[in-house]
Amino acid sequence: MKIAVFDWNGSRHVGRVNEAERNVVRFDLPDGAAEEAGVACLIGQDLPPEAETLSLDAVVLQAPVPRPRRNVFCVGKNYHAHAQEFAASGFDSSAAKGAVPEVPIVFSKLPESVIPAGAPIRIDPSVSAAVDYEAELTVIIGKGGRNIAAKDAMSHVWGYTIVNDVTARDLQGRHSQWLIGKSQDSFCPMGPWAVTADDLDLADTPVRCSVNDELRQDSNTGLLIFDVPTIIAAISNGITLFPGDVIATGTPAGVGIGFDPPKYLQPGDKVRVEIGGIGVLENPIEGY
Ligand code: MG
Repeated sequence: MKIAVFDWNGSRHVGRVNEAERNVVRFDLPDGAAEEAGVACLIGQDLPPEAETLSLDAVVLQAPVPRPRRNVFCVGKNYHAHAQEFAASGFDSSAAKGAVPEVPIVFSKLPESVIPAGAPIRIDPSVSAAVDYEAELTVIIGKGGRNIAAKDAMSHVWGYTIVNDVTARDLQGRHSQWLIGKSQDSFCPMGPWAVTADDLDLADTPVRCSVNDELRQDSNTGLLIFDVPTIIAAISNGITLFPGDVIATGTPAGVGIGFDPPKYLQPGDKVRVEIGGIGVLENPIEGY
């Protein structure tokens, strides 16, 4: 089931998307429930009663979790071909340990960097001249827990969405730790909506990204180095996960830094991330 968060009639709502009919059936929720939590306000309860059906053209989509309760967890270098291209780029402060990590590399993006589909990714030329895209399958946690075993991890997944892990490569390299380069304002496009866990086959789901209709990334979640259960086990090792936590699982090869010369994002560009079974997350690039 596809679940969207959207603004309509002056407030924020959650609803069930019927993509073929281009509409969304609004759930009847308490006022304000969806404001920051988005789809996370549905977790741990039966689906609410349904209200009216609205055309997708009549609503403004928001990120499935518009303001995560804490940082978005992210996994670095989690596809072999991307690990190689990034280690060779000169911007990889973790390269000394080898191109392919032995355990998941986990970093985070600030909650305030989240923007919805259609909103502009903004590049500040006084801050970075090397802004890049990263298409990523993203997990939304349903059941919290600590020290979750990999064999139990899938029962903690509520669903999935798409994140474009936008990155200022120059800042990522210069600061060693990746937070600043990954958390610039507007650098976490998320959407266009979420799907429930039963909707996706993690062993075989295409992940693609194109910039201005040029296909740059074309891979499959079956090629993840560390799969979703392994990632959940690693992050929850001593850190309690909560319902609504968001985990971006890493990007495949074909990011801008992998080209010679690099193909960084520029104002006027359009980035389109598509993940099979979820949908399309498209954002324009704008300057300040
Ligand atoms: Mg990434």
